[in-house]
Amino acid sequence: MSMPPVIDQQDSQLRGALEAALTPLMVQRPRFTETDLRRAIDRAQLRVQYQPKYRATHNGWAVAGIEALLRWEHPEHGLVYPLEFIRLAERCGLIAGLTDFVLQTGLDQIAEWNRAGHKLDLSVNLSSTLVTDADFPERLLDCLEARGVAPEQLTLEITEIASLVDPGDTLDILSRLRMKHFGVALDDFGTGYSSLTQLSKLPFSEVKIDHSIGLSLPKTPFGRGMARAIIDMGHHMGMKVCCEGVESAAALEFLHQAGCDFAQGFYLARPMEPEALLDFIAAQTP
Ligand code: C2E
Ligand code: MG
Ligand code: MG
Repeated sequence: MSMPPVIDQQDSQLRGALEAALTPLMVQRPRFTETDLRRAIDRAQLRVQYQPKYRATHNGWAVAGIEALLRWEHPEHGLVYPLEFIRLAERCGLIAGLTDFVLQTGLDQIAEWNRAGHKLDLSVNLSSTLVTDADFPERLLDCLEARGVAPEQLTLEITEIASLVDPGDTLDILSRLRMKHFGVALDDFGTGYSSLTQLSKLPFSEVKIDHSIGLSLPKTPFGRGMARAIIDMGHHMGMKVCCEGVESAAALEFLHQAGCDFAQGFYLARPMEPEALLDFIAAQTP
């Protein structure tokens, strides 16, 4: 009589367990190359969607502005989201061009809505690799003046300040942006990339609570504690606070009671095409 293959079975169980543990850690082969991205730019496959951002009012929330989010309309893969190509753009020197595209598209849109009597603020994500260009504040001001948009209407959102090449340059550029009345926000606060020290040393006008914290509201004590702490700290430092990742009425209610200034999330509005935005806002206004 032959023995059951105990060792084989244990081996395969062990292999299965190891694979399950290691798979999330394995570096996925990127879907796109530099050539793909350059071709996408040449063929005008990049465009911008806008996600409404809400301001707390005495009894609820009202649309205050929009965040411009880059999209790649790929002919075979459909809509591709920025997390799949922003790093690539940074690595191959394409990020400055992409940022100019988002800024100009967003500002053209805001200028058009201003003329139609709809005053909306605009937020644009700025790669931290770009906050080293000393002429940037001046160029940006020219860009706004050409369109008749006030600097107060534009906020630049920055993440990952921990990896800044030269914090001195960044401090200088952000200070000049603030002196020219642009808003500057620290994005994704509360994750591993940003520290309290950096938040206090750079002249931010706004801090955005990372969506992972927003998603945990109001269910977990950790999420509630983090959100309250960031709101209080931001206010003590003279900043506005926005919470991202608001996916429920209960989260929104919690943030209102906690004194959060702004909220963004799928429960309120998803990122959308510019053509849909005014109708969306009109449908919400009583
Ligand atoms: P972000 O600036 O923090 O933008 C918010 C992201 O969270 C967006 O993802 C948005 O679609 C998503 N989001 C909004 N509400 C919710 C929600 O309720 N639940 C969940 N789960 N997610 C929500 P998206 O568009 O994929 O952008 C991801 C990131 O890519 C952005 O994060 C930003 O860091 C970066 N990014 C987007 N556009 C640009 C750009 O023009 N330039 C640069 N440098 N980075 C950009
Ligand atoms: Mg952002
Ligand atoms: Mg964010």
